[in-house]
Amino acid sequence: MKKQFAVIGLGNFGFYLAAGLFQKGHEVLGIDINPRQVQEVRDKVSRAVIADATDPQALKELELEKMNAVVVSIGSVLNSSILATLNVKDMGVKRVVAKAVSDAHGRILQKIGADDIYFPEKDLALTAAQRLDNPNVLDYLPFMEGYSIVQLAPPAMFVGKNLIELDLINRLGIQVIAVTETSPENVVMIPTGRFVVKDSDLLVLLGPDKALAGLEEKS
Ligand code: ADP
Repeated sequence: MKKQFAVIGLGNFGFYLAAGLFQKGHEVLGIDINPRQVQEVRDKVSRAVIADATDPQALKELELEKMNAVVVSIGSVLNSSILATLNVKDMGVKRVVAKAVSDAHGRILQKIGADDIYFPEKDLALTAAQRLDNPNVLDYLPFMEGYSIVQLAPPAMFVGKNLIELDLINRLGIQVIAVTETSPENVVMIPTGRFVVKDSDLLVLLGPDKALAGLEEKS
C-alpha cells in the first residue's frame, strides 16, 4: 500500500532513506535547508523543497500532518534536530521518527515526544558485529520481492484461538514464525498449532506483502 513520508535533512542517512522509500513505491517529500542537497535528491523522490525545519511557519504549508510518518534526519546540529522534531510533533504528525547521534541526543528526542528514534551508526555497528560474529542465515536467503517478515499485535478476532483454528497458512499463505509474549517477556520460536493467541502477544509473521497489509489494517 502506498504511503506518504517526509524526510527532513537530506544528508547521508536522510538521502538514502528518502530515495529508498521512493524506490519502494511510496510518496516521499524531501526537505532540506541546503539547496544543494535538495537539488541532489530531486529526481529520486516525489518532491523536494528547501525549508528551514526550525521555523514552524516554513513547515506549515507542507501539510506534514497528512503524512504516515515524518523522519527528522538532522544529526550534526543538535538544536536544529531538537527544534525540528518539536515543530513536527506540535503539528500533530501521526508518527515522528528522529535520528540521534548520541545516547544523550536520543534521550532528548524521546523526552520531546519522538515516537521512534534511530541511532544509525550505533545500530549498524551492532548489526555488523553480530554478522561478523555469527553470520545470519537470513543474509543467505534470496530476497523475495513481494514477501516480508513483520511483527504485529493480533487482530481482536485472533485472540483466544489457537494457530490450528486460525489456519493462517492455508487461508492467507502466512506462516507464524515466532510469538513475542509480553507478560512475562518470552519469545516462542516456531509455535505449534496448539499455541493460543493472547491479546498481549506480538506475532512475527512471514508472508506475501498484500496478505500482511490486510492483517496490519485489522490489528
Ligand atoms: P548525515 O550524517 O546523515 O549526513 P547530517 O546531520 O550531517 O546527517 O545532515 C544533516 C542534513 O540536514 C544536512 O543536509 C543539512 O543541510 C540539513 N539540515 C540542517 N539543519 C536543517 C534545518 N534547520 N532544516 C532543514 N534541514 C536542515
